[in-house]
Amino acid sequence: MSVLSAAYMHDEAAAFAHVEAMLWPEGPVCPHCGGVDKAYRLEGVRTKPSKKNPEGVERHGLWKCRECRKQFTVRKGTIFEESHIALHLWLQAIHLMVSSKKGISSHQLHRVLGITYKSAWFLSHRIRECMRSGDLAPMGGNGGAVEVDETFIGNDRSIKPKGEKKGRGYAHKHKMLTLVDRNTKRAKSIVVDDLKASTLVPILQANIDREATIYTDEAGQYRNLRRDFDGHDFVRHGQGEYGRGIVHTNTVEGFYSIFKRGMKGVYQHCGKQHLHRYAAEFDFRYNHRVANGVDDAERGQIALRSVVGKRLTYRRIDESETMQAL
Ligand SMILES: [Zn+2]
Repeated sequence: MSVLSAAYMHDEAAAFAHVEAMLWPEGPVCPHCGGVDKAYRLEGVRTKPSKKNPEGVERHGLWKCRECRKQFTVRKGTIFEESHIALHLWLQAIHLMVSSKKGISSHQLHRVLGITYKSAWFLSHRIRECMRSGDLAPMGGNGGAVEVDETFIGNDRSIKPKGEKKGRGYAHKHKMLTLVDRNTKRAKSIVVDDLKASTLVPILQANIDREATIYTDEAGQYRNLRRDFDGHDFVRHGQGEYGRGIVHTNTVEGFYSIFKRGMKGVYQHCGKQHLHRYAAEFDFRYNHRVANGVDDAERGQIALRSVVGKRLTYRRIDESETMQAL
């Protein structure tokens, strides 16, 4: 049976029950006073009558706290708050985003879910926020191995191309650094302003255990990594070398091939202010991929568990820029 045929993907009451079970395993949690399992359901409450709905609309998932007498729903304090989109459509969107290997465009979400393009765009960025990892444990612990590489993507409009050959080279492109822990098979991508050692090395220090061995290409910015880590070796791509035994960066390059196909095919124009969220989306799917023992349904549940505290207001996503991402 397809996950999409589950009741909570279509029925609003079932969608609330699903999210409540996920976020409130100990019973309803009052967002006003923090009381746990001290609330009762308010059944049959309807919104005020309007022209469109003369009898009002049923308010699903409404609770009232016995302690502080305030009302709430499970949407409060999550990415679903302040959104008019039905909860079951959110659940469909989360499923589509976590299960499409290369991602899904806001245009497609707009068509599939029958919501406006603008709604689809904001909804997808909020879901990306849920995919951002709060995982602060350093990579490469216990003498593990970490591959490090960087890539260029799109065009950074804040950098003016110089000289005759405008648009050639990489200076005007967005730059991203990615670390892949070979033992945990997890990736972490960070958008960076430049590829100088003074920019990259502190990021490696903050994210990788000192006892790790690091594998990179021959780029100069990695020349002195042995000062900071127990081991460092590199591949000489310039000499046509792809790797010598365990010395390679094939894992991180594999990550980039999925990332690039997704960013080119689905997310054609991505502003720098949003790139970290797309990076988080690809990291998330990579870290919770089938090869790591996570199936589509489970991946959706993991994303759903982190909807709390990731409220992203329209203002925070996009203050002045035009909607660039398709
Ligand atoms: Zn309360």
